[in-house]
Amino acid sequence: MKNFNVGVIGATGMVGQRFLTILKDHPWFNVKVLAASSSSANKTYEEAVKEKWKLSEKMPEKFKNLIVLDAMKNMKKIAEEVDFVFCAVNMPKEEIKNLEEAYAKLECPVISNNSANRNVEDVPMIIPEINASHIKIIDSQKKRLKTKKGFIAVKSNCSIQSFVPAISPLLCFKPTKILACTYQAVSGAGRTLEEWEEIKDNVIPFIKNEEEKSELEPLKIWGEIKNEKIVPNKEISITTQCLRVPVSDGHTAAVFVSFKEKPTLDEIKNKWEDFNKTINLNLPSSPKKFLHYFEEEDRPQSKLDRNLENGMAISIGRLRKDSQYDYKFICLSHNTLRGAAKGAVLMAELLADEGYLK
Ligand code: NAP
Repeated sequence: MKNFNVGVIGATGMVGQRFLTILKDHPWFNVKVLAASSSSANKTYEEAVKEKWKLSEKMPEKFKNLIVLDAMKNMKKIAEEVDFVFCAVNMPKEEIKNLEEAYAKLECPVISNNSANRNVEDVPMIIPEINASHIKIIDSQKKRLKTKKGFIAVKSNCSIQSFVPAISPLLCFKPTKILACTYQAVSGAGRTLEEWEEIKDNVIPFIKNEEEKSELEPLKIWGEIKNEKIVPNKEISITTQCLRVPVSDGHTAAVFVSFKEKPTLDEIKNKWEDFNKTINLNLPSSPKKFLHYFEEEDRPQSKLDRNLENGMAISIGRLRKDSQYDYKFICLSHNTLRGAAKGAVLMAELLADEGYLK
């Protein structure tokens, strides 16, 4: 049985809270260290979080009395005590970059939910079912960082987590252009419906930096390793609009795609179904079935379908021909599970299974 000691940097935040509820009974990962900013440091986790607890699930008893460490000042101690850290912090980008690199240089691998290192060419951005082979770039990154064990691996933005898995099995038909409009839940902004007055009976047509990330990150995931770098896919152009909608959890995307080699409607559905059979991860957080296609014309719906496969499935529906693009369809993923903490846990399980975390 695999057994790893783990730290959570940003444990008091919304994503950090999700990490703790997911990891409380994890078969391989034992959370030993909680860390956050100096304002939470030296308090028990319960004192540090107090009314900032945002999940409907209760704070796990086992973490309430752990003393929160200062992620900056106690870096060396933390790196010595754990095999690796999950990191989800709210700080200026340059500071996050430095923090993550400092942990990696202390030989403590960092599994990150932050965007700061996503564009670095030798930092893998992994969706395990899609581009697990990008793990190999870690050897090049270690050479650059001059480390034996330390490295950074990142999760993609939650906005692309529904449409990238749906399009990945269709890459054989050579997509040329993609238009995706995303309808994103309030938890993606670290908020709840109860506390956010402005979002009630409303749609907000702007999420800072979200469209830029949604247009670039898929190309890295669909890229190839060449000369010690991940070279992004250059064949596909993507345009997006990202809207905030009054939904608690679950990001929906309305997607339009054109292909160089035109598939039939049934060929697309078969590719989605067959893709599931090619996935052989068998990790503790893997969904039994990754892609679910709904024939019902009013599915997927965020409220009904976001928790499919414990929030780790991707739901797709309404595939049909389009007058401007070749095809259009709808897809949905749970933004704080598949799209954030649980997606990062799955990536860590893959890295553990491949021997990168000891
Ligand atoms: P959040 O609720 O604001 O929590 C931020 C965390 O960062 C807290 O634990 C905070 O500690 C810690 N922090 C702030 N300044 C720090 C410092 N100087 N040193 C160490 N720790 C510090 O944010 P969040 O929603 O969890 O998001 C965290 C990260 O995950 C962001 O980069 C975000 O983009 C990314 N992300 C979020 C989601 C989502 O669904 N919300 C999804 C994907 C990715 P204190 O409590 O002590 O201040």
